[in-house]
Amino acid sequence: MTVAIPLSIREALDALSNTPDARLIQGGTDMMVEINFNHLKPHNMIALRRVQELRTWTKNADNTLTIGSGVPYQEMETGELKQLVPALAEAARTVGSPQIRAAGTLGGNLGTCSPAGDGLPVLFALDAIVHLQSADASRKLSIHDFMVGVKRNARNANEIITGVTVPLLDGWQGYAKVGVRNAMVISVASACLAIDKPTRSVRIALGAVGPTIIRCRDAEVWLSEQIDISASTAIDAAVAKEFGRRVALESKPIDDHRSTAEYRRHAVGVLAQRLITRASSS
Ligand SMILES: Cc1cc2nc3c(=O)[nH]c(=O)nc-3n(C[C@H](O)[C@H](O)[C@H](O)COP(=O)(O)OP(=O)(O)OC[C@H]3O[C@@H](n4cnc5c(N)ncnc54)[C@H](O)[C@@H]3O)c2cc1C
Repeated sequence: MTVAIPLSIREALDALSNTPDARLIQGGTDMMVEINFNHLKPHNMIALRRVQELRTWTKNADNTLTIGSGVPYQEMETGELKQLVPALAEAARTVGSPQIRAAGTLGGNLGTCSPAGDGLPVLFALDAIVHLQSADASRKLSIHDFMVGVKRNARNANEIITGVTVPLLDGWQGYAKVGVRNAMVISVASACLAIDKPTRSVRIALGAVGPTIIRCRDAEVWLSEQIDISASTAIDAAVAKEFGRRVALESKPIDDHRSTAEYRRHAVGVLAQRLITRASSS
């Protein structure tokens, strides 16, 4: 097996052109599990960890934020990134253990594209743009077009995910998940709620209750008709409960080794109710 260790995106793309069958590895927290269980036996690998360009983030002039695909979760949990995208900080804090968060990245979450990936509901709630680059072209794809199924995405084999761009919203945002225990756990159900007061929008995205992350468009519209999103008034408990019920109706869960569909549907309803209650009391 060969392992290329590029120091720039250009070098990484050159390596990918020279060895088109190579597998990209960033933090390795998904990839090494696959290799250790013999689910994957790559002949060539390209390790992205030393590509500094992927490990940076930038606040853009148009009130957006671009986060490199190699920025580890631990950097999102605290500091300025936490201030700018609180829901991402909350999601990052729920990923695995400190060791996993030191290595694991959004690029890897997007590469694996599991519906239970904790970064993904946040990216869906924020209508993130995914940046993809190949040796001779770059493109931007809405997160809604990027994730196409369970562990399936629209990345071409010759492309590297270089980062994501999200808007900096003006309003409360948060993330919550349910698992079989409180820490070191893959989501059984998860939800991200984000409010933008200037555009009077409320966004809710669900994880682990469908083949892709689900945006609950009907519940979003319903809620924005019930309350004035731009005002900081407390939300009636009955409205919060009905919001949870409507969110649950939009989930498409299945039974599997982690949970029953019925429990998952119940759980996302409760998570949505709690998130909107937290938002209204903040
Ligand atoms: C003990 C443990 C606990 C975990 N807990 C959680 C959890 O609570 N929540 C959660 O969401 N996940 C969890 N995970 C899974 C994993 O940590 C995350 O999915 C993480 O985001 C993967 O990032 P990574 O950089 O390590 O990806 P890697 O393992 O390096 O890569 C994952 C996939 O993405 C591809 N890839 C990586 N970078 C790029 C790129 N720049 N361009 C194109 N493709 C790329 C790789 O080729 C590979 O297919 C856990 C894993 C372990 C081992």
